[in-house]
Amino acid sequence: MKYLESIEYTARTLPQTPALRTSAGDRMTYLELWLASEALASRIAGIAAPGQPVMVYGNKHPLMVACFLACMKAGCPYVPVDRFSVPPERVASIAAQIAGNAPLPVLASEPFPGVEGACAVELFDGDELFRIVSEGGFSDRSRWISGEDLAYILFTSGSTGAPKGVEVTADCFDNFCAWDLELSGGSPAVWLDQAPFSFDLSVFELAGALASGGTLFSLVHDSQQSASALLAALASSGIEVWVSTPAFASLCLANPEFGQGLMADLRLSIFCGETLPNATAARLLERFPSARVLNTYGPTESTVAVTSVEVTDEMAGASDPLPVGSARPGTRIRIVDASGAECAPGSLGEVVIEGDTVARGYYRRPDLTERSFGACELAGAPVRTYRTGDEGWLDGAGMLHYRGRLDLQVKLNGFRIELGDIEEHLRRLPEVAAAAVVPAVREGRVSHLVAHVVPAAPLSTTPFRAGLALKERLRGALPHYMIPKKVAFLDALPMTGNGKVDRRALAETAR
Ligand code: AMP
Repeated sequence: MKYLESIEYTARTLPQTPALRTSAGDRMTYLELWLASEALASRIAGIAAPGQPVMVYGNKHPLMVACFLACMKAGCPYVPVDRFSVPPERVASIAAQIAGNAPLPVLASEPFPGVEGACAVELFDGDELFRIVSEGGFSDRSRWISGEDLAYILFTSGSTGAPKGVEVTADCFDNFCAWDLELSGGSPAVWLDQAPFSFDLSVFELAGALASGGTLFSLVHDSQQSASALLAALASSGIEVWVSTPAFASLCLANPEFGQGLMADLRLSIFCGETLPNATAARLLERFPSARVLNTYGPTESTVAVTSVEVTDEMAGASDPLPVGSARPGTRIRIVDASGAECAPGSLGEVVIEGDTVARGYYRRPDLTERSFGACELAGAPVRTYRTGDEGWLDGAGMLHYRGRLDLQVKLNGFRIELGDIEEHLRRLPEVAAAAVVPAVREGRVSHLVAHVVPAAPLSTTPFRAGLALKERLRGALPHYMIPKKVAFLDALPMTGNGKVDRRALAETAR
């Protein structure tokens, strides 16, 4: 795998270069990272067969990254699970889906919550991981992943109450990585690492920083909990390439100190995952005169991102929403109508992504895979296709413009959420007869979620307290960002003429 070879090259030629730094003060050089991943790979190879998924659980500790590389070297796809974004019931659901006949290997650099009978696990906690690293060992190069082997399986919100695992191959990873280096110039730089590793946006910096001999600067959970801790961490970071969702950048922009004075070396900001509002781009260009701003677009199913555009002052200042960019080499974007027929340039339709970074499918879900994935030829080579469920149009120059979703998926602060996922968890509660969750939209972006609930029996307390109790029940099962901010109790859900829940009517009240 080219990614591993690039890291090996830096470990051999510039071994003392910092590979990983965190806002908590942890560090690893390239040599340390390389040796740690060698030792861990040798241990994993002893307990897992090639192709067997390995859960890597934690937050932003350097060991987490060493574990990712170790899995690649052991021929096992890693399944990244962030301690602060994925609650215990969800961890169990993921474990059950990836478990095989042998106990599921779990490499946990943070206290592991257990999986409550979902499957047998072989747990390596932080102390054990350190012990393995200090004992040393070497990977078997014939087990390194390549081609169609899976690099990672990333679980995203699924519409039926269980997350689904996107299968990203070694080739998808390498192909994305090559483009990532092209976008960022390829020279070693310090990259911001803010998004949880269970969100594929983080692959932007994992690939870009480590394949170029640069440094990943990771913001640990605690540093993201207060504005003062965040600013202090950023001030000492030396970040040159910023990667985040637009929502995180907006949060930072709320502080007047957030500007080139705070991060003198910033030269590039990359955004992905949700709409980049013109105003956010304009303020970034103003506060960081030395930094270019890139808007990029793509789902986890096509490995992080597949289109990009540099946002100019003129584009940011215009009244039209920003485009999301033109396709990377190796990707073709098509717009199709409901029958699958190609739309003319300028016409709105579903965005289809074709190319060499489209994932293999959903892990152990041939039904879901068949629904969204397909195959075609691009420049004479066979590639996969993915129907995104996104609505957009292509202009005459091949620039993609995103208009929203065709289904009930929403983005809140960059996190991908299937409303059906939350509704299913609400419906499972005995006190709920029916439920519909709708996004509240302010200034063109989702500000929060509102759950409309029909109680199974008359409320025995105030609606406010009953709402709090419902949210508390959801907390064990759903990530924090999926917990609706408001709960409204209704006698019945409004219906449209054809008997569906009238989400538009609910959305009108969700403000
Ligand atoms: P995820 O798999 O979490 O990366 O989410 C993918 C979805 O996020 C896409 O299918 C889009 O709906 C949305 N998305 C990604 N990038 C952008 C962007 N630049 N602008 C608007 N929406 C985006």
